[in-house]
Amino acid sequence: NAALADLDPELAHAMAGELGRQRDTLEMIASENFVPRAVLQAQGSVLTNKYAEGYPGRRYYGGCENVDVVEDLARTRAKELFGADFANVQPHSGAQANAAVLMALMSPGEKLLGLDLAHGGHLTHGMKLNFSGKLYDVASYGVSKEDHRIDMDEVRATALAEKPKVIVAGWSAYPRHQDFAAFRSIADEVGAYLWVDMAHFAGLVAAGLHPSPVPYADVVSSTVHKTLGGPRSGLILAKQEWAKKLNSAVFPGQQGGPLMHVIAAKAVSLKIAGTEEFKDRQQRTISGAQILAERLTGSDVEGKGISVLTGGTDVHLVLVDLRNSNLDGQQGEDLLHEVGITVNRNAVPFDPRPPMVTSGLRIGTAALATRGFGDAEFTEVADIIAAALTGSSDTASLRARVDTLAADFPLYEGLEDWRLL
Ligand code: PLP
Repeated sequence: NAALADLDPELAHAMAGELGRQRDTLEMIASENFVPRAVLQAQGSVLTNKYAEGYPGRRYYGGCENVDVVEDLARTRAKELFGADFANVQPHSGAQANAAVLMALMSPGEKLLGLDLAHGGHLTHGMKLNFSGKLYDVASYGVSKEDHRIDMDEVRATALAEKPKVIVAGWSAYPRHQDFAAFRSIADEVGAYLWVDMAHFAGLVAAGLHPSPVPYADVVSSTVHKTLGGPRSGLILAKQEWAKKLNSAVFPGQQGGPLMHVIAAKAVSLKIAGTEEFKDRQQRTISGAQILAERLTGSDVEGKGISVLTGGTDVHLVLVDLRNSNLDGQQGEDLLHEVGITVNRNAVPFDPRPPMVTSGLRIGTAALATRGFGDAEFTEVADIIAAALTGSSDTASLRARVDTLAADFPLYEGLEDWRLL
């Protein structure tokens, strides 16, 4: 029963290093967040010991009376939070949720129509090296060259020409709302099922600050760890008629035993996502991203080429467009890393630079909103980013400003003492 630090000091050292990194830098990777203490406790619990193949009340293992309660809490909360008929909370990750969705909705060889990866889509929406691109016939739609928004007339024309079995809406890098009603009507017109992957914006939907795909889609999948702010994992929502097929696609179709400790952590985070505090946090997230977009574009007075795709954002992220800049995505990511801000480089649509370099940066505000940032702090962060990218201030002074912000919003205070974990 040795403590981790005694049993495995090498590992404990790396973990302590990561806690320090999260505390001392500003996390702006759009797909990341900070889970609260209660989520860490649920996930770091004895529930990891339990096998529970099957579903509550219908398990293939004995002794499931407690984990049945846990999974039922998570399922009920997911349904209530999003107003869905059905929920499956067992997917280990977003990618596995998506694999199960495709398995339930279509057969190998049938056609999937999704947003092009290079225009903001996700690997699981048909990228050729991913299972989705290998198992299914893939067609894609993109954003328009003029305004970088999805053009629903083009989606409709592509759907009419390609006649897909499934159309997927949802994205990993797109700063605007999608028109779910229009996707539904196109799906109906061509006889396709509509799947929405709300992994990125689920927290905004839960807070009522983003249109919900639930009334329109046959099936909705999500991760729990992005704006939703829970443990790294996935979930699926659907109309009741899909319940049987989806349950069997998750288990035994894609997975064996569910991760009951993670499902417990999902239950806690779904409870938190129903609170006023959570709504306030999502509001600060969107407002922060809008401030960032405004100040970055406003900072381009010296022609350094900082513009943002679509000129702004409706969600938790901004896509910086460096196609007209001497700076590329890799250099931008490195410059921000030096001042203590973590972002990821990201290809932009019609990107002339190679995928390992890119001409874009994806910058998200969810994690800092969780840390407590409001408009004033996001204004300061935006100015630091602009100064770093345009080279208008020296690295040391920008790093000092980041240090001040990090110190003003302490993260996981007392975590070292959470010996219960
Ligand atoms: N779907 C979308 C839209 C995503 O952006 C992501 C992750 O980035 C996923 C699915 C996959 O989630 P995971 O990394 O948990 O497999």
